[in-house]
Amino acid sequence: MATLEINDLHVSVNAENGPNEILRGVDLTVKQGETHAIMGPNGSGKSTLAYSLAGHPKYTITGGSVRLDGEDVLEMSPDERARAGVFLAMQYPVEVPGVSVSNFLRTAATALRGEAPKLRLWVKEVKEAMERLQIDPSFAERNVNEGFSGGEKKRHEILQLELLKPKVAILDETDSGLDVDALRVVSEGVNRVREGGEVGTMLITHYTRILRYIKPDHVHVFAKGRIAESGGPELADKLEEEGYEAYVKGGAAS
Ligand code: ADP
Ligand code: MG
Ligand code: MG
Repeated sequence: MATLEINDLHVSVNAENGPNEILRGVDLTVKQGETHAIMGPNGSGKSTLAYSLAGHPKYTITGGSVRLDGEDVLEMSPDERARAGVFLAMQYPVEVPGVSVSNFLRTAATALRGEAPKLRLWVKEVKEAMERLQIDPSFAERNVNEGFSGGEKKRHEILQLELLKPKVAILDETDSGLDVDALRVVSEGVNRVREGGEVGTMLITHYTRILRYIKPDHVHVFAKGRIAESGGPELADKLEEEGYEAYVKGGAAS
């Protein structure tokens, strides 16, 4: 059973005036099939956690460990992490000029599976996944993230998630900028992947809205670079009513 284990993770970002510690001892274990909502105020370090797990070069690990099934994730290049099954859907995804969605997905699937998927089966797989996400077929020929609307970016992320079937999916603010219909389609996609029971999901979000569609098993409040409180779904209800004020009082958010 796939398990991601984050232990006492400390991360700094290199700012102009020197290194700045953002993550201050994050502890979190995500098991296969579980969904963890990571909630917290803006600037608390949620995206930094996501990027650090994916191996973004801007972030320096200054302490702690991250293991996937016992393997040291921090020793791996971003590429190796993806192949080991760590998937990050970014809050601000980048454009990939000259690479179509269709080619991008096939290249990613080839890297993950160790061999190129059979073309005819693959085309069928992509087509069906796109239909489920209500994505227009012409989308497959567009360049990755080039001129994508907010909703298209998010659908593209969930398309990747459905086709690539990672061990751990980190979804950073997947709900941001979605209207209600898009949110429903995207949430259904996440739920389909969850139902397979193979993926552990970290759902990073500022708002409780998406949790009406995707029911987390665990909810964590992220504040000042660490998990300040953990609980079940009822914790999200409490946050909906009371906000994050109690967690940010008595100091700057970062
Ligand atoms: P969240 O996702 O919870 O809103 P972030 O992880 O984006 O929080 O940011 C946490 C803190 O780290 C903020 O104060 C932010 O300004 C700082 N930070 C994050 N990434 C960078 C970066 N690449 N360069 C400089 N500062 C950064
Ligand atoms: Mg933010
Ligand atoms: Mg963020």
